[in-house]
Amino acid sequence: MGAYARASGVCARGCLDSAGPWTMSRALRPPLPPLCFFLLLLAAAGARAGGYETCPTVQPNMLNVHLLPHTHDDVGWLKTVDQYFYGIKNDIQHAGVQYILDSVISALLADPTRRFIYVEIAFFSRWWHQQTNATQEVVRDLVRQGRLEFANGGWVMNDEAATHYGAIVDQMTLGLRFLEDTFGNDGRPRVAWHIDPFGHSREQASLFAQMGFDGFFFGRLDYQDKWVRMQKLEMEQVWRASTSLKPPTADLFTGVLPNGYNPPRNLCWDVLCVDQPLVEDPRSPEYNAKELVDYFLNVATAQGRYYRTNHTVMTMGSDFQYENANMWFKNLDKLIRLVNAQQQAKGSSVHVLYSTPACYLWELNKANLTWSVKHDDFFPYADGPHQFWTGYFSSRPALKRYERLSYNFLQVCNQLEALVGLAANVGPYGSGDSAPLNEAMAVLQHHDAVSGTSRQHVANDYARQLAAGWGPCEVLLSNALARLRGFKDHFTFCQQLNISICPLSQTAARFQVIVYNPLGRKVNWMVRLPVSEGVFVVKDPNGRTVPSDVSPNNEYSPAGTPPPVVIFPSSDSQAHPPELLFSASLPALGFSTYSVAQVPRWKPQARAPQPIPRRSWSPALTIENEHIRATFDPDTGLLMEIMNMNQQLLLPVRQTFFWYNASIGDNESDQASGAYIFRPNQQKPLPVSRWAQIHLVKTPLVQEVHQNFSAWCSQVVRLYPGQRHLELEWSVGPIPVGDTWGKEVISRFDTPLETKGRFYTDSNGREILERRRDYRPTWKLNQTEPVAGNYYPVNTRIYITDGNMQLTVLTDRSQGGSSLRDGSLELMVHRRLLKDDGRGVSEPLMENGSGAWVRGRHLVLLDTAQAAAAGHRLLAEQEVLAPQVVLAPGGGAAYNLGAPPRTQFSGLRRDLPPSVHLLTLASWGPEMVLLRLEHQFAVGEDSGRNLSAPVTLNLRDLFSTFTITRLQETTLVANQLREAASRLKWTTNTGPTPHQTPYQLDPANITLEPMEIRTFLASVQWKEVDG
Ligand SMILES: [Zn+2]
Repeated sequence: MGAYARASGVCARGCLDSAGPWTMSRALRPPLPPLCFFLLLLAAAGARAGGYETCPTVQPNMLNVHLLPHTHDDVGWLKTVDQYFYGIKNDIQHAGVQYILDSVISALLADPTRRFIYVEIAFFSRWWHQQTNATQEVVRDLVRQGRLEFANGGWVMNDEAATHYGAIVDQMTLGLRFLEDTFGNDGRPRVAWHIDPFGHSREQASLFAQMGFDGFFFGRLDYQDKWVRMQKLEMEQVWRASTSLKPPTADLFTGVLPNGYNPPRNLCWDVLCVDQPLVEDPRSPEYNAKELVDYFLNVATAQGRYYRTNHTVMTMGSDFQYENANMWFKNLDKLIRLVNAQQQAKGSSVHVLYSTPACYLWELNKANLTWSVKHDDFFPYADGPHQFWTGYFSSRPALKRYERLSYNFLQVCNQLEALVGLAANVGPYGSGDSAPLNEAMAVLQHHDAVSGTSRQHVANDYARQLAAGWGPCEVLLSNALARLRGFKDHFTFCQQLNISICPLSQTAARFQVIVYNPLGRKVNWMVRLPVSEGVFVVKDPNGRTVPSDVSPNNEYSPAGTPPPVVIFPSSDSQAHPPELLFSASLPALGFSTYSVAQVPRWKPQARAPQPIPRRSWSPALTIENEHIRATFDPDTGLLMEIMNMNQQLLLPVRQTFFWYNASIGDNESDQASGAYIFRPNQQKPLPVSRWAQIHLVKTPLVQEVHQNFSAWCSQVVRLYPGQRHLELEWSVGPIPVGDTWGKEVISRFDTPLETKGRFYTDSNGREILERRRDYRPTWKLNQTEPVAGNYYPVNTRIYITDGNMQLTVLTDRSQGGSSLRDGSLELMVHRRLLKDDGRGVSEPLMENGSGAWVRGRHLVLLDTAQAAAAGHRLLAEQEVLAPQVVLAPGGGAAYNLGAPPRTQFSGLRRDLPPSVHLLTLASWGPEMVLLRLEHQFAVGEDSGRNLSAPVTLNLRDLFSTFTITRLQETTLVANQLREAASRLKWTTNTGPTPHQTPYQLDPANITLEPMEIRTFLASVQWKEVDG
């Protein structure tokens, strides 16, 4: 069964290897439970819950001030990840993580009462691997004793606005797995710790709860929200982070830290600070102990008034602090001694102690209070009037797209590694490996990476890391495809298809196209490849010519030859080569191979684009297929109307591009628009152009309207046969700023829908939240920025509805979006700015080179409100996990002798139902795979087709390449068995939470409730790949 090798520890990974085959239900367990089961019982019998045994003693009748020594180490920001780790380029920012960890470990060893938390595993794991065995042993001891505690434990502290939930889960899994493998249960973080991200999403809280965290602390929230919470004593609450998952599944105890993540003023004792050290010698002219102790007592008492228990926290540390940990700890030691001495001397009722977030949380839990409940999220974040951090939702759109595309590619890589096993890692193309891309993707989730808030050279380095990760995955895919096809070939991956560059298809007269579909159900996909001039015949996996109604000039086809498929002529053949289009039919979790061959001696006669003169006599201009008709105004060239022909819905929709003139500060506030902040200098955006130059292209396989708005803004509105959405492929940039005006470009859709100030956005690509203009659900908003203060993160979709009709726009990356007038919705596609916004990056967001010109897609769905979810859920799934196109010249050699070459393959024996998303299929070590299945509909969301109903799956024999010999269910990040995992319980003012049903695991009956994700570790045996 091949248990994955572990570094240490009894019961590491929560005794995942202890359960019997195929069983997790208690009734079927072996008669003698494993050792760690007894240990769990012992812990439960004591006064302390698991993981809190090492917490310090507190004083029951005093105000306990928990000092939390910590460092905040950004995984890239002003410096690259490596520059931060090694302490390079200290002229940019003095910061060296390796020295911080060295220094902290020494300081902890010097005094057993000292404690420290560490967070970013991208740094910690690198440092760990450079230590001697002796140092590692010492650190293990510190962890065991609770003196070094891990908080959060993700590879990075991820951004919450621009991240997709799948990538969040992946990066948390990577970090927590390192801790589990290295320290076992001792190293498992009990609290989530997002002290710096710029606003907090509800889905993040839901995911943290499902990961098994007992609580969550953060630093940044809207300044008005914070003030109200302080008055109402609601700095700490239970966050009910899902409207679908039954409480307490997505309930998370959440605390707002009193001072962001910084120490109180005058009490920063780092080498980076200038505050006075504590001088306790009364003979010294610098004596200040009494003054500082009095000051501390005042701060502690004042801060304690805004919290409900007799406990409060102080975050003693900040960005890259503790490089000289002795400075901090020496002064904290004195502070603790002097403050606590006041209890005896002066009857003070303040007790101060070294603590950790988990130990503070444990005291809150023991207070046994009834807590209020939060249902919405913490977006958008403003740290003062006119200072909305809503620009980063859209900053660096090229990097945001590269990150999303890399998520797609990583899942393909993970899946093929799991489906093929070792033969994917070691094969004819060399060593294939998913780990480098997995780590690069984890780094990209950092709150200065995908957020677009790093310096330019750091953003370049993030892109470099992704690119470096793609290479070993390409080798892995080649090994896997050779294995599954039984055929070696020179596989090539055309990474520049978005700009119509693919050397093989543009030069070869014949080639093979292998299209891999990462979804759990079959899909039809329009393949689009740049080719040389000519006509091509495409054959499907069975050797049949791909049915194409006909090329525009089929009548010229020589007798006896099969009808050629359409060549799609480009509007500008100089800049863009012609493209070959064909519809590929792809099996679930598998591939189809198409062969393409040029037809000789045949003059290409594809229909040329038809320029449409402005002021045409024609009343309207349309493109349509069997489901949709889009109508354009011939006078302006703009989209005018969309019709859903199945539902007979007609909606006037006017879409065009505008730009906001970025503020550089004004009389009201000197706040400028920048990488973080969005602040237009007036509410009304300016049109890029009042009309578009257009031309129309219609072939049997595609209908397009090409719109040219300006030299730097154009769009293709596109319909393929059978497609239920309208595709808008926009190209924007380089945004001209020669007029010294920073510009923030939006695509806006205006309709007559009566939307009553409401619109809807997704949370990290999963559940949907209602937004209301100039409104916050939990306090009366004083709106200072009518545009920027109404912007929200859009990870995958935004929609408006009047209750009958719904207009949904899906995005191909994270963007900021809003609805600033009823019936209108807008998405910010690009921004280029000349001024810095004063939040530390000290560089204007002025991309040149590869980030300056951006192309992306908006997918538009018009449907009844009732049927809309079925459309946007399935389309968003396909957008995030799109098929992967791999090319080969053909004519390779047989590889897996004994098995016939294969042109088509599915990794599943049966398709998954439409409500089920295969979130993760990845290798988890020798003979183990990680499997996550997700119900992708919310409760009540799909009343039409019943896709919101619970669904039951049979996992036995589901996969075609391996047999599952044992299945264990875990928490979302696979670091605890679901059965053994328990979280602290909290009483809420909404009444008791229902009892959870007894846990059972039957692989033949895996039921998923709406929005439920279930995570499994499966022991598997790969079969010989023989078809
Ligand atoms: Zn940070």
